[in-house]
Amino acid sequence: MDGIPNTHEEIQKNMENLIPLLQKYWKKVSYEKIPLEKNTMNEEASLFIQYIRCGGENERSLILMTGLHGIEGFVGSVMIEYFVKTILDQLYRDYERKDSIDNNSDENHGSVFDFNLHIIAGANPWGQKNKRRVNENNVDLNRNFMNDPENFLTNKNNSYFLLDPKINSSGTVKSFGFESEMVLLRILGLVLKQGIKKFENILLKGQQINRKGLYYQGKEYQPATENLIKLFNPFFENSSHTVFLDLHTGFGPRYEMSLVNSSFESLSSEQMKREFNYPRIVKTSSGDFYQIDGDMIDYLYRKWKIMNNGSSFYGTTMEFGTFGDNVSGLLRSLIAVCLENQAFFHGSRTGKIQEKVRSFFEKAYFPKETKWWNKAINDFDKACIGILKYYKFI
Ligand SMILES: [Zn+2]
Repeated sequence: MDGIPNTHEEIQKNMENLIPLLQKYWKKVSYEKIPLEKNTMNEEASLFIQYIRCGGENERSLILMTGLHGIEGFVGSVMIEYFVKTILDQLYRDYERKDSIDNNSDENHGSVFDFNLHIIAGANPWGQKNKRRVNENNVDLNRNFMNDPENFLTNKNNSYFLLDPKINSSGTVKSFGFESEMVLLRILGLVLKQGIKKFENILLKGQQINRKGLYYQGKEYQPATENLIKLFNPFFENSSHTVFLDLHTGFGPRYEMSLVNSSFESLSSEQMKREFNYPRIVKTSSGDFYQIDGDMIDYLYRKWKIMNNGSSFYGTTMEFGTFGDNVSGLLRSLIAVCLENQAFFHGSRTGKIQEKVRSFFEKAYFPKETKWWNKAINDFDKACIGILKYYKFI
């Protein structure tokens, strides 16, 4: 695939290049770089969240976010580029055609679109720069959005104690094949005993037991989480209809983008499939998906409910599947994250092994295959149009 960024800095440049295009459609476009730590530009000048805001006067707001899981921002940012360059362009042409038929064009009207657009890219800038899922403290930021910070103290996933020694090896990665087999051998008994679904639940729920382990939740809000919460605060106050699409990779069937809805969403997945005209929609409560503590979309739903100001909200995670959701796909994904984490903390015996670990990890979160990309873009297009139509953004 051409035009896919390969570094964090390339993503940042691509996002900035969207600004003049967005100015064609919205009168007011602002751009902010939000550094990780308050008031201090971090040791790395490129460690900031990118926030582009278009409009502000409309009742409806669309938020597109990517990079909460660092490396997943490579796919997410390309989707955002596609949204601006292709989807908006197509909608604009449709409007122009309609205007000329209606003979009703008004050159002085404000923005082309009747909704505000917010783009948040590199939500976890350190992870994106270092091509990891987690942040600088090994925290999975999608386990860090507690509505009440007190929950950090009470939230314990004690079953993780069972998994910890099996998935978080403390030795150097000796060889790719050997270590992969070791992971499988170590977890096999547990998977057979608990069943793959329960095993996944314990693994993915978020944990506070091992700060160098997988799916570490952190014991407090991370700097990026705090910055994002500040960004989210005005969303529900300023618009009466909010749609929030958070872009991720790694979960679900291969070659399929799944919409993963929160258990707080009142419409059923079946209803939504019909309304959006999109076939793959699951819900976190229904056994289709694992439960997460500190999930960002759940955080937003709770916030919106507390606000109780009569506004409407739909938030979802778009998950672009990579290895697939059958047992073999799940185990391959697990090997990818285990070895990447082991190599990060304990190193690899040789540079070549390090490369192998890295390239397997990238296959799981940042695929390069043209066929994969074509399908991903197609699914993204179809789902966006379905969602925007249903909520009357277009
Ligand atoms: Zn993710």
